[in-house]
Amino acid sequence: NNPDIASPARTQAILNRYHLSAKKSLGQNFLTDLNVLNNIVKAANLTDADNVIEIGPGIGGLTEYLARSAKRVLAFEIDQNLLPVLDDTLSPYNNVKIINEDILQANLPKIIKDDFNDEHPIKVVANLPYYITTPIILDLLKGNSEFDNITVMMQKEVAQRLVADPGNRDYGSLSVIIQYMNNVEIAFEVPRKSFIPAPNVDSAIVTLAKKESIENEVFDVKAFSSFVRACFAHRRKTFWNNMQGLFGKEPATKEQVQAVLDNLNIKPSIRPEKISVDQYVEMANAFHSKNM
Ligand code: SAM
Repeated sequence: NNPDIASPARTQAILNRYHLSAKKSLGQNFLTDLNVLNNIVKAANLTDADNVIEIGPGIGGLTEYLARSAKRVLAFEIDQNLLPVLDDTLSPYNNVKIINEDILQANLPKIIKDDFNDEHPIKVVANLPYYITTPIILDLLKGNSEFDNITVMMQKEVAQRLVADPGNRDYGSLSVIIQYMNNVEIAFEVPRKSFIPAPNVDSAIVTLAKKESIENEVFDVKAFSSFVRACFAHRRKTFWNNMQGLFGKEPATKEQVQAVLDNLNIKPSIRPEKISVDQYVEMANAFHSKNM
C-alpha cells in the first residue's frame, strides 16, 4: 500500500525515480499538503455523481483525491514527459483519463459530449498553472459555460482581484467581468511551503459558481467585456477621461456620453474602480441602445 502520491516523501520519490525536475515555464509546483487536498475536495462539494475536469494533473497528487471522490476525472496535461508517470501513479484508478493537450486549445464542449455524454454535474477542480490563470478562467467561463462549479488554486493576488468589491484597490475589469455572471469566493489560502518546489507567491483556492439568474443582463457578453476593459484602461484617471479615450472627443459624442452618465447618476469625475458591476451593466446597455 503506497502512501498518497501528494505526500512529500512519495512526491520526492516519484520525482527522483523519473529524473524529473519541475518545469518553471509550465508552472509546475506540486502540492504536497494532504490537508489542503482534503479541503479542496470539500470546497468543490464533490460527490460520487460528479464528472470532474482537472487542468494540469502533474504527477497525479490532486487527481488521486479527485478519483477517490468523484465519478470520473478527465485531466488535461500539456507536458508529455508526465504521461508515463501518470500512467504509473494513477494505475489503481480506473475512472481517470489523461488527455495530453493544452487546455487553452481543447474543444471542451466536444470532449464533454464524447466523454461525459453531456451528463451533469460537471465540475472543474485544479491547481492551475499560474502563468495562464486568467486566460484559463476566461476560457472556462466563456459562452454558456457548462460547469456547475469551478474550484481552482491560483496566486493569491489574482484571487483577490477576482473577488474584489468596488472601492478596493484590487477591483478592476477582471472583477467586473467575472462577477457579472458568477458568485466568486476565496475558500481558503495556501502558503507557499505546501508545494514542491515552493513558488515565490502564496496561493488561494477560489470557488466560482454560475449565478442562477442574472437580474440585469447585458446585451452582449463579449461587447460588455471589451467595454469594461476600456473603462479601466487608465485606472488613475477619471471615468470621463476613459470615456473620451473610448468614444473620442467630438462634441456631439461627449454630449451623448454625458447624457448616459447623468441618467445613471454617475459623476464623470469618479474613478473607474468606484463603479459597481450593476452600474457597468447599465452603462454598457445604455451606450448600446444609442448605437455607441
Ligand atoms: N495538479 C498538480 C498538483 O496539484 O500538484 C500539478 C499542478 S501544477 C501547479 C500545474 C500543472 O499544469 C503542471 O503539471 C503543468 O505541466 C500543467 N500545465 C501547464 N500548462 C498547461 C496547459 N496549457 N494545459 C494543460 N496543462 C498545463
